[in-house]
Amino acid sequence: MNLPTTNPPPIVPFYCCYLLRSKTRRYFYIGSTPNPARRLAQHNGQSRGGAKRTSLESKRPWEMTCIVTGFPSRVAALQFEWAWQNTHATRHIERDVRDSRVCELQKGKGKKRPPMSLEARLKNLGFLMGVKSFRRWPLEIRFFAKDVWELWEKYTDKMAVGWEMEGRVRLTQAHTMVPAGDAIDGEFVYKIPDLIREIPVAYEDCKAHVEKARAVLGNAKPRRCGVCSKSVNDASSLVCICSVDTCSTVCHVSCLSSRFLEEEGDRDAIIPTHGTCPSCKRQLKWSTLMRELSLRIRGQAEIEAMFKPKRRAKPKTGSVEKELLGTQATEVSDNEDVLDETWMQDVEDGEEEYPSIDRYVGGKGKEEEFPSIDSYAGGRKKG
Ligand SMILES: [Zn+2]
Ligand SMILES: [Zn+2]
Repeated sequence: MNLPTTNPPPIVPFYCCYLLRSKTRRYFYIGSTPNPARRLAQHNGQSRGGAKRTSLESKRPWEMTCIVTGFPSRVAALQFEWAWQNTHATRHIERDVRDSRVCELQKGKGKKRPPMSLEARLKNLGFLMGVKSFRRWPLEIRFFAKDVWELWEKYTDKMAVGWEMEGRVRLTQAHTMVPAGDAIDGEFVYKIPDLIREIPVAYEDCKAHVEKARAVLGNAKPRRCGVCSKSVNDASSLVCICSVDTCSTVCHVSCLSSRFLEEEGDRDAIIPTHGTCPSCKRQLKWSTLMRELSLRIRGQAEIEAMFKPKRRAKPKTGSVEKELLGTQATEVSDNEDVLDETWMQDVEDGEEEYPSIDRYVGGKGKEEEFPSIDSYAGGRKKG
């Protein structure tokens, strides 16, 4: 395998899309992040990358009503986020849903861009989960706001969603956002709900897998591919290793990928989502296997950090972020998860001026130029 001279970073351990709601319940925002707790703190102005203008205080606190997880990559999450925000412009969505949104937008022409209601956002989410390109991913929705979950149940009840909701949507109600103390300069600091803080976002999850791969591949014993039975000892073979603790089966990536795709039976698919281990017969997620592989071949720094004995981080003076989020949050993708200062422009409330629809469908942003899902082979792309 030819690696580029500047190796891309390994696959991010976690990425999600989220729906944010302001305390007034009239303002919404759809975004994506590798670290929901840190991002929520940013939206509420209490950490690096967050807007700090007091004028925003009237909309705070922002709460995370739900997150969508299970994306195989950052690009995948960005594609979903974009489609969720721009249902009228994406080819991923059914024509009638798209057309009704375009119609809605045209009615508002010259005036304001009509806001997308919570109902429309939830319905769009339901449709997106079911469209072919996204249905292949092991996506799950986790609601933190009970009332939003109830609306989801209501709106999607009669929808032909085209995907099995059972086990993929759940409610774990988070406590409401409360100030963590007194206001400083008119701004409150809000306590990030424990449920959101506890979402594992670092590589900790795959530590055992990485450890096993190191032990198995590190010894010189002859090994054979679990699929084709040919040798996998040759250094140029790209191999993956079963993620089940008690199984050390090694397979050529290409062999296992073909087998999984065959098992899935989707003729259009290029990248598998899951499949059965040829030895232990357990269900494996392709993304889990690729995450270990990507850490092994290009995550030297991440692996070192993972096995480094933990030191207690000294909280910086005034660093609420550290205090509120703990230290695990800062281990990955720190510099890549800075909230764009202009995010408030994308908040929809039905009263402010909205960016024109042309911004999404014309010029550089036209939909053909949006990266196709299948062009993505499992790594992370910049941009
Ligand atoms: Zn093989
Ligand atoms: Zn196995």
